[in-house]
Amino acid sequence: MTTNLLNYDAKGLADFCTEIGEKPFRAKQLLRWIHQSGITDFVDMSDLAKGLREKLAVLAVIESPQIISDYVAADGTRKWLLSVGAGNGIETVFIPEANRGTLCVSSQVGCALACTFCSTGKQGFNRNLTVAEIIGQLWIANKTLKTDPKKDTLTDNDRVVSNVVMMGMGEPLANFDNVVMALDLMLDDHAYGLSRRRVTVSTSGLVPAMDRLRERCPVALAVSLHAPNDSLRDQLVPINKKYPIKELLAACQRYLTAAPRDFITFEYVMLDGVNDSVEHAHELINWCKITPCKFNLIPFNSFPGSGFKRSSSEAVRIFRDVLMQAGLVTTVRKTRGDDIAAACGQLAGQVKDKTRRTAGGKVE
Ligand code: SAH
Ligand code: SF4
Repeated sequence: MTTNLLNYDAKGLADFCTEIGEKPFRAKQLLRWIHQSGITDFVDMSDLAKGLREKLAVLAVIESPQIISDYVAADGTRKWLLSVGAGNGIETVFIPEANRGTLCVSSQVGCALACTFCSTGKQGFNRNLTVAEIIGQLWIANKTLKTDPKKDTLTDNDRVVSNVVMMGMGEPLANFDNVVMALDLMLDDHAYGLSRRRVTVSTSGLVPAMDRLRERCPVALAVSLHAPNDSLRDQLVPINKKYPIKELLAACQRYLTAAPRDFITFEYVMLDGVNDSVEHAHELINWCKITPCKFNLIPFNSFPGSGFKRSSSEAVRIFRDVLMQAGLVTTVRKTRGDDIAAACGQLAGQVKDKTRRTAGGKVE
């Protein structure tokens, strides 16, 4: 049985080195080869002793998920569909902007939390991703963006992916241990060296896990609020029944004591006639006065059978203005890559159902 070294953070690799009779400091060299050079063949790891390279070739592999497809949208957004075995697919999206390149990473195949407006939630839960499958998304993106940049997707930044958001498929805090190990690698100077401000975990509000993240690895936090009162949030984000808004906001306050930014980002999907009225905006203001926060309004991205409609741009503008007038910094998320079904909430990761994607048509 070979060991996949992509599953290890610095500590895990050091332990692995000890296990095979090597000095633990070899882990740093290995991290750099694996994550910074993207090398998969131990023979090429030129500063390792020949004996160690031979030993590794027998005992270990460096194995990322397989790329099934690779699409570039008209706006430069790039989406990879990756196979993680047994017919399961996950999706990873790269969003190039003038001053940064953001990778949107998945944490689970499907999601158990069943938010009613989310296509991942509609699929149900299949399984947690391993560390190798989570960090493998960043590994693949860095590698393919360098070797096969396609059009317009490269920024000047050498590293190419400058920011990571855990906003792909799945609830990252429901796969806590593997996600945190992958975060450790993102932050590790011998691996990706990203600062905590440039790595964001998005959660639908798993309160105890938010506290654990604060203690273990306090990266930037985004919270999917989506509703200004418990009765509506219970319907849209069912986990609210377990952790209602008051508890969620208290957890946000606690998180801020360790967070790398001095605000929490609240995500709010704009659903026509459901949560987008001026009254809803006023209700939100009451809740959020006490929590330093910024709002990110996300125009709903439709998918077949969702039963929701996107709020009109007029409704979104009015909603934003009401929040702004109350002093809440509010942005409207630009919909990126929706021509390749890469926008928020459109990630379904179906390996079998590729036909409508290859057609490249907008999925409405
Ligand atoms: N599970 C985590 C992270 C993944 S979803 C979470 O819920 O926060 C990333 C963001 O996209 C969340 O804010 C989510 O609510 C939002 N989203 C889900 N479905 C969407 C859709 N159809 N249109 C727009 N945003 C959506
Ligand atoms: Fe899961 Fe997030 Fe989708 Fe809710 S919005 S079902 S938590 S992925």
